[in-house]
Amino acid sequence: MRTEMRTEMRIPKRTFDAVIVGGGGAGLRAALQLAEANLKVALISKVFPTRSHTVSAQGGITAALANVSDDNWHWHMYDTVKGSDYLGDQDAIEYLCRNAASAVYELEHMGLPFSRLEGGKNAGKIYQRPFGGQSQNYGGEQAIRTCAAADRTGHALLHTLYQRNIAARTQFFDEFFALDLIRDADGYVLGVTALEIETGQPWAFESRATLLATGGACRVFRHSTNAHINTGDGLGMALRAGLPLEDMEFWQFHPTGIPEVGSLISEGVRGEGGFLENKDGEKFMSRYAPNARDLASRDVVARAIAQELRAGRGCGPRGDYVHLKIEHLGAEKIKARLPGIRELSMQFAGADPITDPIPVTPTAHYMMGGIPSNMHGQVVAPIHTGPEEAVPGLYAVGECACVSVHGANRLGGNSLLDLVVFGRAAGMHMIDYLRENPIPRPLPQAEVEKSLGRLARWDKPKGTETVAGLRGDMQKVMQDHCGVYRTEALLKEGLAKLDQVEARLPDAALSDHSRMFNTARLEALELENLMPIARATLVSALARTESRGAHTREDHPQRDDDQWLRHTLYFSENDQLDYKPVKLKPLTVETFQPKERTY
Ligand SMILES: Cc1cc2nc3c(=O)[nH]c(=O)nc-3n(C[C@H](O)[C@H](O)[C@H](O)COP(=O)(O)OP(=O)(O)OC[C@H]3O[C@@H](n4cnc5c(N)ncnc54)[C@H](O)[C@@H]3O)c2cc1C
Repeated sequence: MRTEMRTEMRIPKRTFDAVIVGGGGAGLRAALQLAEANLKVALISKVFPTRSHTVSAQGGITAALANVSDDNWHWHMYDTVKGSDYLGDQDAIEYLCRNAASAVYELEHMGLPFSRLEGGKNAGKIYQRPFGGQSQNYGGEQAIRTCAAADRTGHALLHTLYQRNIAARTQFFDEFFALDLIRDADGYVLGVTALEIETGQPWAFESRATLLATGGACRVFRHSTNAHINTGDGLGMALRAGLPLEDMEFWQFHPTGIPEVGSLISEGVRGEGGFLENKDGEKFMSRYAPNARDLASRDVVARAIAQELRAGRGCGPRGDYVHLKIEHLGAEKIKARLPGIRELSMQFAGADPITDPIPVTPTAHYMMGGIPSNMHGQVVAPIHTGPEEAVPGLYAVGECACVSVHGANRLGGNSLLDLVVFGRAAGMHMIDYLRENPIPRPLPQAEVEKSLGRLARWDKPKGTETVAGLRGDMQKVMQDHCGVYRTEALLKEGLAKLDQVEARLPDAALSDHSRMFNTARLEALELENLMPIARATLVSALARTESRGAHTREDHPQRDDDQWLRHTLYFSENDQLDYKPVKLKPLTVETFQPKERTY
C-alpha cells in the first residue's frame, strides 16, 4: 500500500521515444531505423555493444544472391520451411527470404567488408559458401548461398551497424542492466527499469515503445557455444510481465563444438569441404544422410554424432568426441578462409587443423523458441485465453524472439539474416506506432517498486546457498535431462531435480554487497532469468510427445503432424501450457505442405 501512495518515484528517470534493450545485431538494426527517422532512441546494453554475442558469428549470413550457384529466394524459403521441420510460420519465412538479398546489399552499402569472389564472371562480387540444409531447386543440388566476411561475419556486421548508429545519434547506455518491463494495468509496456552497472544506481527508462533484443539463453546448459552473457534476460522479463514463451522445447545443439570448452567450430568448415570421421576413420555421415552427408541439417548431424558416441565409435581416451578434418584443403585456403577457426582450434583444442583433426562434439548453440512475436516484431500473446493480440508498446527481435522463422530447427546463416530483416521491420513498425501513440501514459509506480524490491532482495546479508552453486546445479540438470535425446522419464526426473534447485534459490545470498561494478549481483539477476527458462524448456519438452527438428523424444520417435503441428506457449503461472496453430499460409506463394524430411 505504501508504494501505491507515492507520487514521486525514488529513482531517477530518463524519457525517450523508444528504448531498445540489447546492442547485438538485432537491437542495433532496429535502433538505426528509429534514429535515422530522427526519433529519440536509447539503446541499453549490459556489455559494450560490440561485445554482444553477434560478434562471434563466424560462418555467414544466408541470402540467395546467386553469385556462385543458380539461386532464388523461393528455393531458400523451401529449405527454411523444411529445415524448420514444418513448424516455422510460412508468412514470416516468405518475408525473411524475400528480403534477404536487399538486407545483405544494404549491409554491403553500409560498408560491411564481405569477402569477395576471385576469378570467373562474378569476380569481385560477395563471396558465398555452402551451408547445411541449403539446396537448389527444392531439395536438389547443394546451394552455395551463405555470404561471408572470412570466418568473422558477425564481427564485421556488428561493427558496421554500431558505427552507423553512432552516426545516426542513437543514445547508448553501455553497461546498463535491464531489470524489468514496466507494464501498466491496461497491458501497455511503458519502458524498463535498469541498473547502471558502474555505480549501482537503478534507473527508470520511460518510452512509448520498448524493444527486447537481449539474445539467446544457451547458458541454461552446461556446455554451450554461447557467451557467458547469454542468459535470456529478455525472456525472464517477459515471463515476469505475465507474457508467455513460445516453443521452448526447441534448442539447437551445434554438431561441432570443442569438447568441454564449448567454442564453436563453424559449419562453414564443412561448407569449405571439411568432413567428420569416427575413431575407425569412417566418414560416417554418408550412413545418416546419404545425399547431403556432412552438410545435412544441424539436428541431423548432431544426432548422428551422438549415435556414433553411443555406439563406442568416439575418439580420444573417453570416446566422447569425433574428428573434423580439413587438412586436405591445404594451408593456404585454411589461412585465407578459416583463420579464426584455426586460431580457436589451436588455442582451445591444441590442434592445428592444417595438420591435425579438430575434436568436436554436439554443444548447445541456439534457441529456436522465445518471446512470441510477429513479422513486424510486435510481441503477441493470447489476451484472457482468447485469440492472440499485439502487446501495445512491446517488440522483440533476434534470438530472444520467436517469429517463428526457424521452427523446430534453424538453418545456419539464417539467424544473422533474421536480425537485420526483422530488426528493420520492427523499427519501421515502431515508427508508425509512435506516430499513432504520441501521448505518454503515466508510469505505474507500483510496478517500478516491485522491480526495485526484486533488486533489493540481493542485499540480504547471509544465506546458505551461492549463485554459482545453484547455476551449476541447474546447468547440470539441463545437460543431463534435456539434451539431444529425451524421454518422458528423463524429463520428469529433470523437472523434479529442477524443483529442488529452485527451492534453494531463496536461501542464496551474495558475499559482496558493494554497489559499484558488482558483477556478483548481476550474476544473481541473470540466474533469476535462467531458472524459469530451464523450467519452461522442461515443461514444454515433456508435453510434446513427438520428435520434430531438434526435439528428439526416443519414446516418441515419429513426427506427429495430426497432434503436434502447433506452437507451444508456456506461462509461468502454474506452468500452464497453451498452443497455437502454425501459420502454413505464406504471404503470396503456395504453402509448402509438410512432408517427410530427409537429407
Ligand atoms: C559462436 C556462435 C557463432 C554463430 N555463428 C552464426 C553464423 O555464422 N550465422 C548466423 O546466422 N548465426 C550465427 N550464430 C547465431 C547468431 O550469431 C545469434 O543468434 C545472433 O547473433 C543473436 O543476435 P541478437 O542481436 O539477438 O543478440 P546478441 O548479439 O546476443 O546481443 C544481445 C544483447 O542484449 C544485451 N542484453 C542482454 N541482456 C541484457 C540486460 N539484462 N540488460 C541490458 N542488455 C542486455 C547484451 O548486452 C547484448 O548487447 C552464432 C552464434 C554463436 C554463439
